[in-house]
Amino acid sequence: MRSQGIAEDELFSFLLSVKENDRRYRHVLSSMCTLPHPVAVRAMNLFIESNLGDPGLFEGTASLEALLVERLGALMHLPEACGYATSGGTESNLQALRMARREAGVRSPNVVVPESAHFSFEKACEILSLEMRVAPSDDMYRMDAEAAADLTDKNTISLVGVAGTTEYGVVDPIAALAEIASDHGTAFHVDAAFGGLVLPFLPESPLFDFQLEGVTSISIDPHKMGMSTIPVGCLLTRDPSMLCSLNVDTPYLTVKQEFTLAGTRSGGAVAGALAVIEHLGRDGFTAVVAECMANHRRLISGMAALGYPVIAEPKVNVAAFDCPLSPEGWQVSHTRHGHMRIVCMPHITTTIIEEFLKDIGDMHV
Ligand SMILES: *Cc1c(COP(=O)(O)O)cnc(C)c1O
Repeated sequence: MRSQGIAEDELFSFLLSVKENDRRYRHVLSSMCTLPHPVAVRAMNLFIESNLGDPGLFEGTASLEALLVERLGALMHLPEACGYATSGGTESNLQALRMARREAGVRSPNVVVPESAHFSFEKACEILSLEMRVAPSDDMYRMDAEAAADLTDKNTISLVGVAGTTEYGVVDPIAALAEIASDHGTAFHVDAAFGGLVLPFLPESPLFDFQLEGVTSISIDPHKMGMSTIPVGCLLTRDPSMLCSLNVDTPYLTVKQEFTLAGTRSGGAVAGALAVIEHLGRDGFTAVVAECMANHRRLISGMAALGYPVIAEPKVNVAAFDCPLSPEGWQVSHTRHGHMRIVCMPHITTTIIEEFLKDIGDMHV
């Protein structure tokens, strides 16, 4: 640390110069995050000092968190769902498996995840000492439900399915998996970190939420398609006892117990997430998703015209292509199978997609 601090002007010219090294979102086609909605920024600033780790001190913010859970629960067709605001999909997935392990109480626990699962499950299984059983995908990059059933046994504490996979934008056979989980009396966690704020706003979507009896918990991330400020995810559970199974005593706080993973938590980000939901409502979200999906379809048809058909059948605005080109100035990513992957987030406009297709077309000839 410096012995004497620097003046504010000097400090901020330093910070601004460093920020120049960050990528602007405009040419970023690889991210599931996006520019936050202005109301999220405003709400976050309003609640910037709030700490949900000690909710008795911030009862106002805590009521916003309860409302966020209620809104997202209702979106997942269970308004009375329990839950809390996490730091994102990783924490939600970890906590879901932690609850399931507690509830099952078996000696050598395992969890059955799809091959396409987000890498957060690898972290979660390592931390929780769970055997991770990986079910293969079918030819459309969806979890093979029969294989998942074969891997499930009396030591399986949870099945995991993904609604809107990170790499191919597909939805696992959630209804079939929910039945398998029910038959085995095991938990079933649906990772809808990305798809949870896309699928409900599409004209047609497969069932993936609490409407399916076997679904016991869901991850859904406002800081992705919810256009919220980072960090905010949400973990929802069907049953209050699941969350309470994680309670530890918190002797010196305003509340006596907590089930969260983090202690100190940002109230600002929670206010930001709720602000976007209240401001846009169902109609606003439907419009945003429609726009993203229109750009996603334009991208797919443009790439197909250049000889790069889309891989699988994405249900959400994530598309992968067997395309070896890497156009300069554009940030694209690649899946573990080497396919070019593009996410049409709200910051990606039609103009940007046309520019990208032109650049790919120019390289192609
Ligand atoms: C992004 C993502 C995650 C991880 O979420 P973070 O907020 O980055 O921790 C988990 N699952 C899926 C399906 C995702 O798309």
